[in-house]
Amino acid sequence: MRKIAIIGGGAAGCFCAVEIKRRCPSYDVTVFEAASRPMIKLGLTGGGRCNITNSFEGVESLADVYPRGVNLMKRLLHSFGPSDCLSWFGEYGVRFVTQEDGCIFPESQDAIQIVQVLERAMRGFGVKLVCNKKIANISELSGYDAVVVTTGGGTARLLEGTGIEMIPDVPSLFTLKIADDRLRSLMGTVVDNVALGIARTRFRSHGTLLLTDWGVSGPATLRLSSYAARWLASEQYHGTLLVNWLNDSEQGLRERLAAMSKSARTVANSHPTELSDRLWHMLVERAGIRPDARWAELGAKGLSRLVNILISDSYPIIGRARFKEEFVTCGGVSLSEIDPSTMECRRVPGLYFAGEVLDIDAVTGGFNLQAAWSTAFTAAKSIASR
Ligand SMILES: Cc1cc2nc3c(=O)[nH]c(=O)nc-3n(C[C@H](O)[C@H](O)[C@H](O)COP(=O)(O)OP(=O)(O)OC[C@H]3O[C@@H](n4cnc5c(N)ncnc54)[C@H](O)[C@@H]3O)c2cc1C
Repeated sequence: MRKIAIIGGGAAGCFCAVEIKRRCPSYDVTVFEAASRPMIKLGLTGGGRCNITNSFEGVESLADVYPRGVNLMKRLLHSFGPSDCLSWFGEYGVRFVTQEDGCIFPESQDAIQIVQVLERAMRGFGVKLVCNKKIANISELSGYDAVVVTTGGGTARLLEGTGIEMIPDVPSLFTLKIADDRLRSLMGTVVDNVALGIARTRFRSHGTLLLTDWGVSGPATLRLSSYAARWLASEQYHGTLLVNWLNDSEQGLRERLAAMSKSARTVANSHPTELSDRLWHMLVERAGIRPDARWAELGAKGLSRLVNILISDSYPIIGRARFKEEFVTCGGVSLSEIDPSTMECRRVPGLYFAGEVLDIDAVTGGFNLQAAWSTAFTAAKSIASR
């Protein structure tokens, strides 16, 4: 009988264990978990609702959602994509809802339902689960025919002595601390369609921005943090945030403002944008325009200053903060070490990797869990076919 060890009882590890047993019920599969129970993090995902995957319908390019690991994910999504994920959990009675933004959640809106499905399936198939067992080095498991490492982020010590290349870990998916009291005083303000960037880099994102009492958050910020994760870490989370408040071009904005040019109303109190009045007041002030100045007396220079602030505003980034405790690790086992059709390590036959331990990570929206399901499925299929 083939003996399989899985190190890490998280989403990828437990899913992989069940999938191996579904295919080969006679295999002896053991999951070693360092914590006192499995899948603690999975139970917290999506704010407790579990954003289990994404419809991918609004995704123009996979590189936009997988800043690291895009080529591997392109391949794996063909063999186990979002619809396969929904069918898989659907077989265990889970029903799903898809939000307008493509995020998919269980209809129960309860991440614990997903945890329980996997726990029940593990029990049903006779997967052995050993909790409170931290594996220090994979050499401890030399008696197994195959070992799957699904330990999530930060697990370099486990692989010491193997020569496997690790890409250094840095956090991804965080919010940014901004040194500007005026901006922070607008906490709670939501701006629907901004474009963000980091000065002197190619990192850009767009979407909804949320102003907070420490700086900026919301989907556009989280995306930017994901794209620029490594660069920001190398700069100790300091840089210049560029904000195009209307995600518009200079010409588009000038056309929008042209209608106001002869208006006798004050610039501060009338504006043709969807920005909140409080935010508009701040931006008018930043453009150096008097609060009582009228549109008709702005002049070319005043208008240019306003346009410039609206589309090329900038703020000092002075650190990072966590997004509701949610983050993923960027880095991990180098994908050059892995056979993409099996998830087996090229250097160490019989050693497999799945989930966040790999150098794959995504923006928010269910893409990270999809990576865990796809990689775990591929490893399980390969192990079962031996
Ligand atoms: C709060 C939060 C919310 C999130 N929400 C979402 C979401 O809604 N949608 C989404 O797509 N992604 C989400 N993510 C990301 C997602 O949770 C991860 O991408 C996913 O859990 C990765 O699964 P994994 O099994 O690879 O790793 P983990 O889930 O981290 O599991 C790894 C397991 O290995 C164990 N372990 C580690 N080292 C050892 C060792 N040496 N020996 C034994 N056991 C070990 C750990 O205790 C852990 O249980 C969220 C992340 C966080 C932190």
